[in-house]
Amino acid sequence: MPMPNQSPSYDIIIIGGSMVGSALACALGGSRLRVAVLEASEPAAVVGRGDYDLRVSAITRASQRIFEAVGAWDAMTALRASPFRHMHVWDAGGSGVIHFDSAEVGEPTLGHIIENRVVQESLLARARTFDNVTVLRPSAMDVFTVHSEGVTVRLQDGTELGARLLVGADGARSSVRAQAGIEVRGWAYDQTAVVATVRTERSHQETAWQRFLPTGPLAFLPLGDGSCSIVWSTAPEQAEMLLGLGEDEFLRRLGEAFDFTLGEVTATGPRAAFPLRLRHASHYVQPRLALIGDAAHTIHPLAGQGVNLGLLDAATLAEVLLDAVARGRDVGDVAVLRRYERWRKGDNLAMMTAMDGFKRLFGTGVTPVRLLRNAGLRLVNGAGPLKRVFIRQAMGLGGDLPRLARVDAAWKDAVR
Ligand SMILES: Cc1cc2nc3c(=O)[nH]c(=O)nc-3n(C[C@H](O)[C@H](O)[C@H](O)COP(=O)(O)OP(=O)(O)OC[C@H]3O[C@@H](n4cnc5c(N)ncnc54)[C@H](O)[C@@H]3O)c2cc1C
Repeated sequence: MPMPNQSPSYDIIIIGGSMVGSALACALGGSRLRVAVLEASEPAAVVGRGDYDLRVSAITRASQRIFEAVGAWDAMTALRASPFRHMHVWDAGGSGVIHFDSAEVGEPTLGHIIENRVVQESLLARARTFDNVTVLRPSAMDVFTVHSEGVTVRLQDGTELGARLLVGADGARSSVRAQAGIEVRGWAYDQTAVVATVRTERSHQETAWQRFLPTGPLAFLPLGDGSCSIVWSTAPEQAEMLLGLGEDEFLRRLGEAFDFTLGEVTATGPRAAFPLRLRHASHYVQPRLALIGDAAHTIHPLAGQGVNLGLLDAATLAEVLLDAVARGRDVGDVAVLRRYERWRKGDNLAMMTAMDGFKRLFGTGVTPVRLLRNAGLRLVNGAGPLKRVFIRQAMGLGGDLPRLARVDAAWKDAVR
């Protein structure tokens, strides 16, 4: 059915205003494009005060650059963002250790641990400052239909909106992806991540710690008030057991699993669990439609890369769309969108494959494999140039970065 004979209300409608969707809205802020971002949830009541939220992310330097370039970084650090300067990774089944120090690559930090809601609320607040961006919240998409000239989106309250391009930033269970009939490949990792905010006897030393146990990795991520956010990936039945334990017993088991590296674990906040799955959409784009962030891919949290990959998707898609506008092209044209897909799909797949390999490599107790992986860790730790490559990868600075993630953000003005 052709689009009704009227110009669409927007050029781009983004479904999902969490970290990735709101980053895209900001990256398109100040351009000629009329953008709407729809977020189903209510705003968080308290942000950046009181107890740390359970959901935090390790934000790479590349993502920091994106936040700086779109003008949202200062708001995040004003709320709260915890820098980490070291990363210490070791194998419970051997002597292999790897230690990264930001000074080795001449950078002040390796990244920051930030609550997801601090990232989201800072980005949405920034998005609202642009005349060409409308934030609709709470507002949820019900269904959409694609026409030759555009897309019509029906909201759950019955309102209809039109656009030239629909972007699905609606997370791992994306209804945009499902309604578009885009297949997802992947599998359950057979692990569940238990998360909590804990206190330890000794200081975390601004270090992101990760111990690989045969059942899965256990991370202690440093927070600004001296506490740590833990991500304990383990077998689903063990995760269930850990959630059900009394506080003292949970603290004892956690301390033991972490080999008392920071002394005793002395206190914990509430615990929650997230089943882990690898998912990869078979396509990121269709005529008048693109997927970004978890809607396109989900990955094991062991290297803290999930949202960082999503932010690179957002920055790349913004670059491709702004380039298209500068050339007078239709932003919903699949030929335009394919440039975004080609650019990001390979990089995302490479990271997903590497993380999957790590998970399997550290999940085996077979002696030759265990010896080899320990030798590998020692080798990387001892080899300066190779180690610097790894550090830069962990900081998100490897690969073909979009302009927003490079130092120079002046390009935005150049294309407008
Ligand atoms: C335990 C754990 C630890 C992790 N740690 C890290 C880490 O350290 N570093 C890292 O990079 N990544 C990490 N991740 C991954 C990271 O959390 C995700 O990649 C990230 O949250 C995805 O963001 P997103 O914006 O793509 O999707 P989501 O955060 O899932 O957001 C989707 C949004 O869409 C909205 N929405 C959905 N449907 C609709 C609709 N119909 N209409 C309107 N709105 C809609 C939702 O309300 C939601 O706000 C971790 C994940 C887990 C499980």
